[in-house]
Parts: sequence; C-alpha cells; structure tokens
Amino acid sequence: MGRLQKILIPFLGLVLAFWFYSARDAFKPEMLRGKRVIVTGASTGIGEQMAYHLARMGSHVLLTARTEARLQNVVRRCLELGAASARFVSGTMEDTAFAQRVVREAQTSLGGLDMLILNHVGASYFGFFDGDVEHVRKLLEINFLSYVAMTTAALPMLKESEGSIVVVSSMAGKVGFPFTVPYSATKFALDGFFSSLRQEFTIQSINVSITLCILGFIDTGPATLRGNNSFLISPYPK
Ligand code: NAP
Repeated sequence: MGRLQKILIPFLGLVLAFWFYSARDAFKPEMLRGKRVIVTGASTGIGEQMAYHLARMGSHVLLTARTEARLQNVVRRCLELGAASARFVSGTMEDTAFAQRVVREAQTSLGGLDMLILNHVGASYFGFFDGDVEHVRKLLEINFLSYVAMTTAALPMLKESEGSIVVVSSMAGKVGFPFTVPYSATKFALDGFFSSLRQEFTIQSINVSITLCILGFIDTGPATLRGNNSFLISPYPK
C-alpha cells in the first residue's frame, strides 16, 4: 500500500496533468467574428491590445475609458484592422450610472451583447498603506462596483445570447502582497463576487460563462512617480 501511494498516485497525477495540458486548443478566431463585445479600459494597455485582437477577428467592439482623444485613435485603428464596427463611450467608472449607460449603448447600437470584458482599473500607489480610506472607497467604486453594475445591466442581453463575462484580475487578487493594499483589496473583491456568481449560474442553469483572468506583471509602459516612495500602479499618461 505504501509503495502504491508513493509511486502510483504521483504517476497518475503526471498522466492527468499531461492529458490536461496537451488537450487541443478548441479556440478558433472565427468564433469571434461578428460578436458584439464591450471592452472597458480600452484607451491604453491591455484593454487597447484586446480591442485590436477582437478587431482582427472581425468583432463589433464598443470601447470605454475616460480619455476621448485616445479612444478615437483606438476606434480608428480597430476599423483599419477589420472590426465589423467600432465605437466608444467616454466617461468615468467612478459613476455607476456611466457603467449602466455603456451597456444601454450596446443595446441601442449593437442590438445585444455577446461578451463583456471588464478590464479598466483606477490609479493607485505602490507603497505602504497610507491610511487613506477615501482612496480605498474610490478605488472600490472604479475597480469593483462598476464591474458589478455593468454585469447586472448586461445580464439580460448576455442571457439571451448565452454570452460571456471576462473579468481581468491579477495575482494581487489571489495572494496578498505588500505595497498594493488598496489595489489588492479591490481585486480580491472581484474574485469573491464573480466566483460566487459563477456557481449561482451553474445552479440556475444560466448559460453565461464567467472567466476571471489572473495576470502577472505585464509591462505596458513606463511607471510615473507620484510622490514619496510611491508610483501609480496604473500610470497615466503612458
Ligand atoms: P492601464 O494601461 O493603466 O489601463 C487602464 C485603463 O482603464 C485605461 O484605458 C484607462 O483609461 C481606464 N481607466 C482608468 N481609470 C478609469 C476610470 N476612472 N473610469 C474609466 N476608465 C478608467 O492598465 P493595464 O496595465 O492595461 O491593466 C488592465 C487590467 O489588467 C487591469 O484590470 C489590471 O488590474 C490588470 N492587470 C495588469 C497587470 C499589468 O502588469 N499591466 C498585471 C495584473 C493585472 P483613461 O485613463 O482614459 O480613463
């Protein structure tokens, strides 16, 4: 029995791991052709690049961020790359009414929604927690509450299309690290909300997928100094 546990079980684990990781990738770019997709935080960084990928695959993209001039450029580039259509709504996610307005725009201009990609992130600092409760509240509004507001508003359309919700999170939303306390708290909140919601969807047979993306560090531009021992985690401008 001892030998069985020491050899057979790890061997079985290896076989299963090999089977799982060598499974053929079922993704095909055509799957996104003609799909109606919202990408938030699409004026820079990862959101901007996701918009370009979707454009190459022929999706309809509806982009959001605060900076209109940048969004105009991203929309123009999306159309050059082959997007079925590209448009933007500018505004701040500090305002949950704005989040709902973005979803209404998808309803009126695209006639529905297949995928909601929640990616935007408010600027925070890198350094010891400074006790600024207002900053934590504001960051929760941008990084968490607006995600909830958009999901709630988009759900009827996503149920109809049997669509997907993609939530961009971080390692800092899975493991506590020093120097990113407010940011980390908002990302943990996303995991709590969306992982629980996914289970409720399963129980209720709601065919809307929820994917939480756990990203490591990705260099999307230079960091900007903010003050003593701190810099913006989400630097602007880049
Ligand atoms: P980024 O380049 O700073 O982009 C952030 C986006 O959010 C911008 O389009 C910004 O546009 C928008 N935004 C910021 N504040 C906003 C507000 N109040 N209302 C509406 N939009 C706002 O960030 P990124 O590095 O690409 O990160 C994208 C996602 O990946 C985030 O969720 C982040 O947590 C996650 N992530 C990134 C990394 C990394 O290393 N880069 C690692 C792990 C996870 P405006 O300024 O024009 O509003």
